[in-house]
Amino acid sequence: MDMPVQTHDDFNTIPVTNPATGEVVGRISQGSVDDVKAAFYRASEASPKWAAKDATDRAKVLFGAASLVRNRQADLAGLLTREQGKPLKESRNEIAGFARILEYYASISGLLKGDFGHSSAYGHAIVSRNPLGVCGAIIPWNVPAIIMGWKVGPALAAGNSLILKPASTAPLTCIQLAGCLVEAGLPADILQVVTGPGPVVGEAIASHPGIRAVSFTGEVGTGRRVASLAAPFFKRVTLELGGSDPMIVCNDADLTEAAKGAVAGRFFNCGQTCTAVKRLFVDSSVEEEFVHKLQNLISSLKVGNGLESGVDMGPVHSLAQRTLISDQVERTIEGGFGTVETGGKEITTGNSGSSFYEPTLLSGLDSAAPVLREEVFGPVLPVMPFDTLDDAISAANSTQFGLGASVWTHDTRIIIRACEELQAGIVWVNQHLKIPPEVPFGGTKDSGIGRENGRYALEHYLEEKTILIKP
Ligand code: NDP
Repeated sequence: MDMPVQTHDDFNTIPVTNPATGEVVGRISQGSVDDVKAAFYRASEASPKWAAKDATDRAKVLFGAASLVRNRQADLAGLLTREQGKPLKESRNEIAGFARILEYYASISGLLKGDFGHSSAYGHAIVSRNPLGVCGAIIPWNVPAIIMGWKVGPALAAGNSLILKPASTAPLTCIQLAGCLVEAGLPADILQVVTGPGPVVGEAIASHPGIRAVSFTGEVGTGRRVASLAAPFFKRVTLELGGSDPMIVCNDADLTEAAKGAVAGRFFNCGQTCTAVKRLFVDSSVEEEFVHKLQNLISSLKVGNGLESGVDMGPVHSLAQRTLISDQVERTIEGGFGTVETGGKEITTGNSGSSFYEPTLLSGLDSAAPVLREEVFGPVLPVMPFDTLDDAISAANSTQFGLGASVWTHDTRIIIRACEELQAGIVWVNQHLKIPPEVPFGGTKDSGIGRENGRYALEHYLEEKTILIKP
């Protein structure tokens, strides 16, 4: 199968390693600015034919690719676990999620209609909605398949071509998924994967004058850089950045379910999810009971190589990420800002390339604690009591981020207040984390701009043209 990715000789490659073992899983080309320029040239040549296709023909390709991905779910999930570290059960769900996203956009692509009108003043008005042409996407390593789906699905369904830059530490599954689209009939050069360092390949995409839109997911600082590079060309930009999601547990909540939700919400993907539960607020009247439940659940989590059966939590994605998390926890404890209830240490395995960290619960936190003031992208759950709903909402909102938030209660008045007042792009009630393909996803404040997912994402990839016809 022809892979839609640039190639170089062996000397010009970057190794991709398994964070559970340090073993090299594969190698990728170290792309350059010229590779982006070449990809753009090919994409702009190929784009008009794809754009001119009937939406249902484009949908057939997306459905076909989804079917190939589902047939290869086991192999793709194994690859994702080896390069990213997450447990196989999470990888399998993520691969199925990618297929589901393609199916969703295939199923709504026929709805991409324009508008029309008539008036004696101007005659007939037609508003057509057209693809932009060549678009760009830059994605991180934490949930690479899903985030790739969020960008590839709407871009291709709307008739654009896309140059995709995956994270250098988790690019292999993305390359295989792009290959499935090509095998399903996507014309050559409509989707091209260009691998290589972010400051080179990512910046070349963001600053290329012909690339009309960039969709970026990653850190706040990188998002700022991407936005500033895109600004002189008036490109459309969506930025899905970090989060510090609060979860508020009221005293009438089902505490057992809420504790399960908090543990799943924080330790899923080893805590490396933008919408993970990063700050847990519990009504002080039930805090002791709730912490006890959390400790029991956390102690039963099996940490290990994601390829082994029964593993609940894999390694942190890289040694560099683990150092960052260790440092955030150490500064919190040594600065007297909090106490370790469970965990709080790196796990040594005798293998210097592995990067495991204990699932960690922190309590007694001061609002100045580094684990509250900074985004912690790892398995660390800080729990804090609150006395009134006002206090909880105000503390929940006291962050630069505004990605997700959840409230756990059956009291309708509290639900309404929380939904109205929590500053977040998505508010869950009695759940946290789930993002079905149908709903928009994105953040407010430093969590970014624009929305992905759902039919709203199509707006990013379409432009209206007004045609006025005087008979
Ligand atoms: P980064 O911003 O470091 O990397 C994300 C992507 O950007 C990678 O492909 C990276 O390439 C690339 N990149 C790096 N530098 C540049 C640059 N100067 N110009 C253009 N592209 C560049 O983020 P992480 O990989 O560390 O991802 C984790 C972060 O992403 C967390 O903060 C998390 O909260 C956030 N995130 C947000 C989500 C959301 O939807 N809001 C979802 C998932 C994660 P390379 O790998 O080669 O460095």
